[in-house]
Amino acid sequence: MAILPPGTPPGPGVNPHPAPRHPRLDPLADRYAARTHGMKTSEIRALFSVVSRPEVVSLAGGMPAVTALPLDAVGSMIGELVSGMGAQTLQYGSGQGDPRLRERICDVMALEGITDASPSEVVVTVGSQQGLDLVTRVFVDPGDVILAEAPSYVGALGVFQSAEARVRHVPMDDDGLIPEALEQALIECRANGDRVKFLYTVPNYHNPAGVTLTEPRRQAVMEIADRYDLLVVEDNPYGLLGFDREPMRALRARDDRRVIYLGSFSKTFSPGLRVGWVLAPLAVREKLVLATEAQVLCPPSLTQYAVARYLDTQPWREQIKHFVELYRERRDATLESLEQLMPAGTTWTKPDGGFYVWLKLPHGLDAKLMQPRAVNAHVAYVPGIGFYADGGGREYMRLSYCYPEPDEIREGVRRLARVIEAELDL
Ligand code: PMP
Repeated sequence: MAILPPGTPPGPGVNPHPAPRHPRLDPLADRYAARTHGMKTSEIRALFSVVSRPEVVSLAGGMPAVTALPLDAVGSMIGELVSGMGAQTLQYGSGQGDPRLRERICDVMALEGITDASPSEVVVTVGSQQGLDLVTRVFVDPGDVILAEAPSYVGALGVFQSAEARVRHVPMDDDGLIPEALEQALIECRANGDRVKFLYTVPNYHNPAGVTLTEPRRQAVMEIADRYDLLVVEDNPYGLLGFDREPMRALRARDDRRVIYLGSFSKTFSPGLRVGWVLAPLAVREKLVLATEAQVLCPPSLTQYAVARYLDTQPWREQIKHFVELYRERRDATLESLEQLMPAGTTWTKPDGGFYVWLKLPHGLDAKLMQPRAVNAHVAYVPGIGFYADGGGREYMRLSYCYPEPDEIREGVRRLARVIEAELDL
């Protein structure tokens, strides 16, 4: 399934929803910085009140199944850290992050073929979300162009918009980003005199598309990056969550000069601890540390020690396997019920890892317009438009299978199929 219809131009990013400015309602409306004008509520956050209603089956949020963690063991570990190491865990720390944790992060990255990383090149961040913000601050001026897959992670688009970057989408298909389309976008940007700052890509179990960049395409993308002197920001929170294979070799494992790698413990351990990282060449790393010090002084000490201790003392590899089994079962429930229940003409991606299925509605139906009817039928999804900077994606939606139990998933898909059928009958 082509994620964008063939021939769709990857147009430059134009925010189709500028923030309303009502001087009479908001006396400060004329004083906000220009960068706030591109800020908008994400389609996911807008759904929060709906999905917390117990009668609604939520296929919307990408919340990891944290209750599958050994909660008592994690609780005692954190308690012992405070009682035993309070002087460090409750104190300010280094802006770059705890050295012991940075060492362990290098061990984690080795699982994806990054064997040459040094702890001195790692910056610990408050989730990879802060990593995205830091990289953008360090590289992007207003008006600069960022190339990003179509669709793209909504949280990254939010960061790029608040930096007043222009996002230019590059189409994908079932094998991930299309290298020829990347090259075409670069040629056009050159012809326009655009300053392309980097390619932002989620190569593994993409959020929201659920697809993975194949090995030959990884090579092709890196060859293009070389030829066009392109910086690549590789965002990889899901890489260890593959269902049927060993982790794919990271882009960063192929090039340590032009790839900046973002990692996270949100999906392999806990999102609430907010621990992620950036791996970057030393000169970039220096700038990232200055930017993080200006933002937060240092990442939280307690949660960094908690992650380092968890990696040192708990069977974290087995825990990841446990997560993977659980998500595989939920993926199976999703794909089986989609196959059984969806009306003809509906198509969807078939993820082999991660959290998401990207579904295309039949006959040009609009997922955003359909949403109130779906909520009335007690099922929630995220409309596709949130994942585009240029107003595209109307006939798409993201379904997340990570949080609901298989039976809830089946019920959610049943409700969704009925809503789509009713929409087709209108
Ligand atoms: N990148 C991608 C692709 C994501 O899906 C997410 C979380 N949904 C993040 C970054 C941010 O994750 P965190 O800040 O929790 O590490």
